[in-house]
Amino acid sequence: MKNYDRNWLMLMMACFFVLPTISLHAAENGKGNSNSNKFEVATSVSKLVFDTSNAPDLNKWTKEKFAPAIKEWVVKLTDVMASDGWKPPKKINFQFVVVKLKSADGAPAWALPSENQVCLRVDWFRENLDGEALGSTIHELTHVLQNYWTEGCDEKNCPEWASEGYADYIRWVLFEPESKGCDFVLREPEKYHYNDSYRVTAHFFGFVESRFPGTMKKLNAALRDHSFDDGKFWKKTTGKTAKELEADWRAANKEAAAKSKAKAE
Ligand SMILES: [Zn+2]
Repeated sequence: MKNYDRNWLMLMMACFFVLPTISLHAAENGKGNSNSNKFEVATSVSKLVFDTSNAPDLNKWTKEKFAPAIKEWVVKLTDVMASDGWKPPKKINFQFVVVKLKSADGAPAWALPSENQVCLRVDWFRENLDGEALGSTIHELTHVLQNYWTEGCDEKNCPEWASEGYADYIRWVLFEPESKGCDFVLREPEKYHYNDSYRVTAHFFGFVESRFPGTMKKLNAALRDHSFDDGKFWKKTTGKTAKELEADWRAANKEAAAKSKAKAE
């Protein structure tokens, strides 16, 4: 197994806690099959294909709410995530899938970056249309756009904590800051490390970007072209090492926590 295959597999595993048994019924929808549950949305950057064949009841929501929001954000993210020589995929598929889970836990959605596809779990989406449905899709869409897992990718030049932290940064810091999905970090500033992945790293990335605007664009580019080196990137980009930035981040978090406590009293 090549490194990038292994990393791709790791991403798959990282994005959900239980490996589901997937039934991709929609794959049966052959070419030329006129299917009103499968439709395309053109954008200025990529063609988006939504397939609700496995959940016709989600068709209306997908057409009226989901697709317009994704359309807006795929354009925004193409700009946010731009780097030299990178082009967004010509086509991105959003496929609702029926999943038979061994346990009730499992990822609501996952990305297949090499296939430019985001899979959406039908049962979970039905329950979360007004909750996390869109946000979790934005996280997975970010993985598709990252395109990090190409030949030469390894755990040093594209660590999982950074790719997952970046996807959560896009989601919680840029897409839905009002949800305050990373603010739990403020409650125990000393507990967390910058490379704890997911929301913790997303919070750290948001802090660094606020202090050194443009850092996230450089980070995404470095992860994508595999030039990232945790020991050098931060110093070169911000003048501070990761550990120095982490100390600043913790101090700022403590201050923010103290201020909100004082305000509450
Ligand atoms: Zn992920």
